[in-house]
Amino acid sequence: MCCEYITLPLARRLTADEQAWVSLHPCVRIIGGNVVRVNIPCKALKRGRCKLYGQEARPSLCSVWPDDPNNQAPDGCIYKEVS
Ligand code: SF4
Repeated sequence: MCCEYITLPLARRLTADEQAWVSLHPCVRIIGGNVVRVNIPCKALKRGRCKLYGQEARPSLCSVWPDDPNNQAPDGCIYKEVS
């Protein structure tokens, strides 16, 4: 997961009907046949920056991950681009 999307492993490959459903939802993408990516930008993300940075309201998860952005952050993660 990151500020802009979440990825989840699939238990099996999608059927043709499920793939058709995915193709009708621009915010959903299948990666490598066994991972689903859902684009759900955080509402605290404004112009590529966290509006809650340094505030109590920011989830602690956001502070501890990724601790090594260049090796852990997924493709497209803004941490890679800003570092
Ligand atoms: S709170 Fe900030 S760091 Fe956490 S997901 Fe939202 S924008 Fe990203």
